[in-house]
Amino acid sequence: MTLFEKIARREIPAEIVYETSEAVAFRDIHPQAPVHVLVVPRRVLSGVSAADAGDAGLLGHLLWVAAEVARQEGIAGSGYRLVVNDGIHGGQSVDHLHVHVLGGRPLKWPPG
Ligand code: AMP
Repeated sequence: MTLFEKIARREIPAEIVYETSEAVAFRDIHPQAPVHVLVVPRRVLSGVSAADAGDAGLLGHLLWVAAEVARQEGIAGSGYRLVVNDGIHGGQSVDHLHVHVLGGRPLKWPPG
């Protein structure tokens, strides 16, 4: 079982801020911005590159949840960034698909 699956099942503590039947959102343990929330599917997909056409609805749902989280966290007006890291060069460290919601300060572009 992945770390994020355990968080979604509440077997490992995390500050859950939003959830639906398909997804859970919780605060990142090492926040890189004043708001840093991870949105993960309850059903494990190792990463976005592992998704197939049948997962398209779930991928859309994760983006919608991310936007809901941004509204709830009060950063929708000032703007925010959604990030999905995939694989080694993408910097993915947890093999359970997750969308980072980052905001609450101006973010630089491009990332390093
Ligand atoms: P990534 O590098 O895109 O795979 O992102 C993984 C993220 O998971 C990192 O930002 C970590 O800080 C975060 N993380 C790792 N363990 C935990 C945990 N137990 N609770 C919350 N966030 C975590």
